[in-house]
Amino acid sequence: MSEAAHSFFAKSTIKSADLDHRRKIAFNISQYNAKVPEGKQQFARLELARERAKNLKWRALETLDQQLEHFELEFSKRGGKVIWAENAAEATEAILGICQEVNCRMLVKSKSMVTEEIHLNKALEERGIQSVETDLGEYIQQLDGEPPYHIVTPAMHKSKEDVAKLFSAKLGTAPNLSPKELTLVARDILRRKYTAAEVGVTGANFIISETGSVAVTENEGNARLSCAFPKVHIVVAGIEKVIPSLTDLGLFWPLLSTYGTGQQLTVYNSIISGPRQPGETNGPEQMYVILLDNGRTNILAQPAQRESLYCIRCGACLNACPVYKNIGGHTYGATYSGPIGSVITPHLQGLEDYKHLSYASSLCGACTEVCSVKINLHELLLDNRRQAASEGLNGLSEKMAWKMWKLSMLRRGLMNIGNGHLKSKLVNKIFTGWKAHRSDLTFSEKTFNQLWKERRHP
Ligand code: SF4
Repeated sequence: MSEAAHSFFAKSTIKSADLDHRRKIAFNISQYNAKVPEGKQQFARLELARERAKNLKWRALETLDQQLEHFELEFSKRGGKVIWAENAAEATEAILGICQEVNCRMLVKSKSMVTEEIHLNKALEERGIQSVETDLGEYIQQLDGEPPYHIVTPAMHKSKEDVAKLFSAKLGTAPNLSPKELTLVARDILRRKYTAAEVGVTGANFIISETGSVAVTENEGNARLSCAFPKVHIVVAGIEKVIPSLTDLGLFWPLLSTYGTGQQLTVYNSIISGPRQPGETNGPEQMYVILLDNGRTNILAQPAQRESLYCIRCGACLNACPVYKNIGGHTYGATYSGPIGSVITPHLQGLEDYKHLSYASSLCGACTEVCSVKINLHELLLDNRRQAASEGLNGLSEKMAWKMWKLSMLRRGLMNIGNGHLKSKLVNKIFTGWKAHRSDLTFSEKTFNQLWKERRHP
């Protein structure tokens, strides 16, 4: 078993028994569940909207090379620079190089999962550059030294009391501040950072091929401030974020906000098409877009799993997943958690080490049902399992178990050997690993043949 799998099993055992954790998650997800149906009301034909969004992403991904090249062409026309990064090391090196050129000592960053994926903060810290998270949830997580817990709601596992205690311990505030007061404390600190930082880093919710623009969606205005004040704006985006046309945002923005938070539209939606142009008063002097592969082309190369690249990171599948709700986001030990994380992480970080995530599912299909772009998540989990088995990555005991099962299923005589009591005892003794978190297997006292005969001749 890989180290990642060991850690996953150990953490999930602890977390699933942590009732306080479950209470907080249940509360926060219940708030979300109350809002989403309201957001859905804005769609006259919701299913059609989801289907159309899926088709648009299909088109974007099937022509990915052309879409990205066209993006680069258009973005470069207005003085922006595109950097192609094959992996995390190339992306961080490029960012560090830009920071060095402008003698950056402090960088402000808006919420971006892809910068988590490349461990940007750690790389900056090692070079003596302060990286300040400006999204409130991310700021809370940074203060606590924790990675984001959820792709949309980074501090979902913390109650308001937890945050008040954290601020008190780290910032010396009174221990009983209200959420409003806590927000004002964070705002006061962060406002001064925007004007002092030399570089601003954001992610991109969408890369628009047609116009060479990036679209950034947020609720706090921090992404706008992160790219408006500093002299340099760096966007880090996975290559799958591309959409063909500007008008596609008319579909993707409401879908993302409805499935992400239940809003009709997220509060701030920015379309940024390059650095400050002559005659403009605001905006950065330089703008870069780093297009990151980091394993995405591995997914693109597989016809079945390719669909997972349609994801717009709305987070709905996490909120619906009974496994996520019990073990929480950190247990996955990966940047992307929940059902979508379990589908893509084995391909981004290695099937051998992360195949266990594809088994962290009851296959209930709740994730597929709620996905804003109709990704067949539970089927993709099965595809991952199939791939792991066909590449011979499953352990010896599992292979033996399936061999024995096949052998007995194909031979009636073997199936009928011994009574149910004996079979239960034997199987429960052999499969101790499988049984560690499950109750005993109990075989029927009567064989299949006996049951069949009784049914036919009662
Ligand atoms: S897989 Fe679907 S539901 Fe899950 S985050 Fe992506 S778009 Fe949202």
